[in-house]
Amino acid sequence: MMKALVYTDTQVMQYRDEPKPEPGPDEVLLKVAATAICGSDMHAYHGLDERRVPPLILGHEVSGYVVGGELDGQLVVVNPLLTCGQCNHCLSGRTNLCAERELIGMYLAGAYAEYVVVKRASLIIPKQPIEPWIASLTEPTATALHAIAQIERISYRPISEQRVLVIGGGAIGLLAALVLSAKGCLDIALAETNALRRATVEQQNVAQVFDPLSDSAPAPGAYDIVLDCVGSGATRRMASEQVMAGGIVSHVGLQNADEGLDTRRLTLQEVTFLGNYCYTKQDMQASLDMLIDGRLGDLAWVERRELSSGIEAFSDLHHGRVAAAKIVLHPDAMFG
Ligand SMILES: [Zn+2]
Ligand SMILES: [Zn+2]
Repeated sequence: MMKALVYTDTQVMQYRDEPKPEPGPDEVLLKVAATAICGSDMHAYHGLDERRVPPLILGHEVSGYVVGGELDGQLVVVNPLLTCGQCNHCLSGRTNLCAERELIGMYLAGAYAEYVVVKRASLIIPKQPIEPWIASLTEPTATALHAIAQIERISYRPISEQRVLVIGGGAIGLLAALVLSAKGCLDIALAETNALRRATVEQQNVAQVFDPLSDSAPAPGAYDIVLDCVGSGATRRMASEQVMAGGIVSHVGLQNADEGLDTRRLTLQEVTFLGNYCYTKQDMQASLDMLIDGRLGDLAWVERRELSSGIEAFSDLHHGRVAAAKIVLHPDAMFG
């Protein structure tokens, strides 16, 4: 048996004994070292994700130690996105578009547990030693990095020369600002309505942080690039208004599918709208390298807790009582 944090019903988690998973062919057993709480786990916890059906062990932002085999004892990061490997998207390296894609912690058991089973092909091995809690940030970093890489692919100018607005100061918005800064971008603004989150982002000193509800709005059309890391009607409206002629809107957030986009302005001003989702294994590798190299700053926005207090962590996040942009849970024996 093992200890696991199990999502059993809307806003209900249980810390309890669960059977220790057994690896099948092409699979590996990992002793979990660290699992970060994702916004999508919160979405499930709120009962809003029909793909994550309780009872389920959530958690897909994970680092852990391989148990058994040639890699026994090796710290690895997991690429949680499982893809078929055979379709045109997979064969052309755009694995995030695979129609068969699945995520651990969604249909398969996730990593808020002492052990998790993953595909051997999902393992990413750090090129140099890294602390497990830092390694667990690879997946959200890859989401931000992927969006930025897609923007760079179609940009007319280097990203370092462009004015960027990031909407949303949660983990993905903050990571986007940190990745942009690491890429030499000097002109980054970040809009966030929550005061706790604004303070956390401000400490990182990479972006001009403002409250879009009370601070005076920047002049319309002020930004070459707008990254919407919230994805609501209000933020899409803001993105439509703030992007300049010929600019790019990258839509990363998945809060809802309401309206908000000013398609007339986007058309008349030849704005490119990019939907950006997840990452490829290359994005994961590049993100892990950035974290190993310390290019994303002091990571003081991360809070670490024990898995046995995970129920409280979810409820604190639910009640907006957390200033940290990310909580990482460690199985109790791995904490420290
Ligand atoms: Zn995630
Ligand atoms: Zn595929």
